[in-house]
Amino acid sequence: MTQTTMADAIPPQESTVLGMADVTPSAHRLQARIALAIMIVPALGTIEAARLALRHEVGAGQWILFAVMYFVHMGGVTMGLHRLLAHRAFSTSKALEVLLIVCGSMAGQGPVLYWVSTHRAHHAYSDTEGDPHTPQLHGEGWAAKMKGLWYAHMPWMLSRRVASPGHFARDLLRNRTLVRLNESYFIWLALGFVIPAVAGGLLAGSARGAWVGFIVGGLARMFLANQAAWCVGSVCHMFGSRPFRTNDSSANSWWVAILTFGEGLQNNHHAFPSSYRHAVRWWEPDLSGWCIALLAKMKLVWSLKHPSPAVIERVTIRPSRKE
Ligand SMILES: [Zn+2]
Ligand SMILES: [Zn+2]
Repeated sequence: MTQTTMADAIPPQESTVLGMADVTPSAHRLQARIALAIMIVPALGTIEAARLALRHEVGAGQWILFAVMYFVHMGGVTMGLHRLLAHRAFSTSKALEVLLIVCGSMAGQGPVLYWVSTHRAHHAYSDTEGDPHTPQLHGEGWAAKMKGLWYAHMPWMLSRRVASPGHFARDLLRNRTLVRLNESYFIWLALGFVIPAVAGGLLAGSARGAWVGFIVGGLARMFLANQAAWCVGSVCHMFGSRPFRTNDSSANSWWVAILTFGEGLQNNHHAFPSSYRHAVRWWEPDLSGWCIALLAKMKLVWSLKHPSPAVIERVTIRPSRKE
């Protein structure tokens, strides 16, 4: 249903925070509906996936399909949208850049320019006014903290205030390929469902197999991978260890890091945002960092950035120091 109201005539409103603006009411309605669909439909699909699994309709091939699609989803977001584009932590060829952006767009976390702008705003205003998804601004006390945790996990996506690509992603707006990938976002989002459906159908040689592939590799994969990814903004800005001095509440969480290919090492990442790897110590789980290092050995990526031991030492919190 499309309704034009007086409010739709209001142009986007700049906020007092540089680079953040309120979108028009009509744009906000559309954005909120898409965000709600991304939150709710995959959750329903996961319930169906559980029902299929209990009925032994999900075979080994379908579970492998789930794992492959989870890797494509999480790898695309973490290596492509995050470390390559938002932070310029390494360089690569046009072809691999396109592939990573397409994979990242399948995650349903928004078009590439929206993703990068939102994320750069998160770093620019970490846990202060202007941070699109901080759990820290809802007051003191247990109830307020839980409200903040919930807001930073999902409802923040329903906010009318968004990060402006004209402010936060000016460099990317000059990249015509990237702008085209941004405009064709819904094709890539749909591809994230078409691929597992086709693969599932081929595996089982039936339409039922295509349905199971769509549910398991498409919807359940999107639900579980996004729930893990959203824990980075919620859980990892409230709970966990803080080995490095930063101006925010970022913290390292092992279990989130395992599920998000290293992104759960949020305190490390906020201390060294342009590093291609989020692990600082070799034993910290950072699958995307390991993949980027492997791609570098294969000469598929280059100019990897990481902090020197002296830089790491400078921001390390020592128990003996009082700072
Ligand atoms: Zn963060
Ligand atoms: Zn980041």
